[in-house]
Amino acid sequence: MAVPKTAAEPTPNPLDAARAQLEAASERLNLDGGLRRVLATCKRELVTNFPVQMDDGSVRVFTGYRVQHNVARGPAKGGIRYHPAVSLDEVRALAMWMTWKSAVVNLPYGGAKGGVIVDPKALSITELENLTRRYATEISILIGPSEDIPAPDMGTSEQTMAWIMDTVSMHRGYTEAGVVTGKPVSVGGTVGRKEATGRGIMYIVLEVARDQGLSLDGATVAVQGFGNVGGVAARLLAGEGARIVALSDSSGCLYNGRGLDVEALSQRKGEGAKLTDLPDGDHLAGEEILSLPVDFLIPAALEGQLTAQSASGVKASFIVEGANGPTTPDADSALAEKGVLVVPDILANAGGVIVSYFEWVQDLQFFFWEEDEVLERLHRVITRAYREVCALAEKEKISQREAAMLLAVSRVVEATRVRGIYP
Ligand code: NAD
Repeated sequence: MAVPKTAAEPTPNPLDAARAQLEAASERLNLDGGLRRVLATCKRELVTNFPVQMDDGSVRVFTGYRVQHNVARGPAKGGIRYHPAVSLDEVRALAMWMTWKSAVVNLPYGGAKGGVIVDPKALSITELENLTRRYATEISILIGPSEDIPAPDMGTSEQTMAWIMDTVSMHRGYTEAGVVTGKPVSVGGTVGRKEATGRGIMYIVLEVARDQGLSLDGATVAVQGFGNVGGVAARLLAGEGARIVALSDSSGCLYNGRGLDVEALSQRKGEGAKLTDLPDGDHLAGEEILSLPVDFLIPAALEGQLTAQSASGVKASFIVEGANGPTTPDADSALAEKGVLVVPDILANAGGVIVSYFEWVQDLQFFFWEEDEVLERLHRVITRAYREVCALAEKEKISQREAAMLLAVSRVVEATRVRGIYP
């Protein structure tokens, strides 16, 4: 999925990046070879090629995946992505990052991810529903509230989750609300889930600003990706007084040094406009967003965006990772040398899985919470994890990514050790 910046620069493989991060943490924790092999490998991998009848009567065969990386700490948890560049290695990497993400914020989950190689924008709503129901049926042998709980990711939505929940429920003969999270509130979803990842990013930005003695009022922000994560983060940060000077989507970047009206742009985007159709600022090439002189850069689109090459042009003071895996290990080193503080994905974008956990708990209890309870608990969980990561980073004189990985991997190792190897 990662998009190369130039023809000379190869596309980074996200699984290489994920394994390099794990290897670094394993070294620090002095893990034995057996544990390293267990953690570097995904536990279960399902590949399915399945037919879908298209509106014109033709039949297409799509390829989908569901991968469970590790379930030592609880049921597998992770989103489902619909994108033309989905690959097995990408899904494996995303599943591994989910294991660490659940562990770093201390949720009782393992990690999983799913994906279908498809451009959802090129399908009609009926085709999308047929594809989703068939894919859900194919992966139904793995998913369930105690086994593996999908959620939305790029290219999927609340509606996708409703179709999956309904399909599994039809097969089982009763409503299985807890089989997915990120559902509409009308069918067992929770208030606050749709905005949760973006809201978590906003809480993290507020913490960073507080630590740095920086006022968010007028602080400049650039957000790559104007979807569920980037769009909500931009809107909420604007609400806190930040000046959103640049936004980008797959069409390119919209820049206005005086600040963009995120609310109005979200509305236009919802009506189908691309950012580069809109007259609210200058139109730049998509990758230029990474090198703008801003206080906060929030990559919230694809993995592998900040490579050694693109990181060398970064002028932001702080990077808060909304996307999964936006920074390659080489780029991490380059950013550290420049003194850029990076709040890593497994911590910064954990708001989604935290509120997914709340949704699952509510579904299992058939007892639903008020919005203020959801938001207050999200704030508490994500800021506590941020404080723990900062304290460890400071104590060990390491980056926040290294600290987050240390915390997460050591928790998974502890669970693996006490459970033992069966038989
Ligand atoms: P989305 O489908 O809602 O939005 C993706 C956005 O990225 C769209 O605006 C799209 O136009 C844009 N985009 C695509 N290619 C781009 C490019 N080359 N340059 C700039 N923008 C580009 O997806 P999302 O749910 O917002 O997910 C975004 C990222 O956040 C992914 O890495 C995903 O794994 C991660 N994430 C999502 C959640 C969640 O709850 N949805 C939680 C944690 C992490």
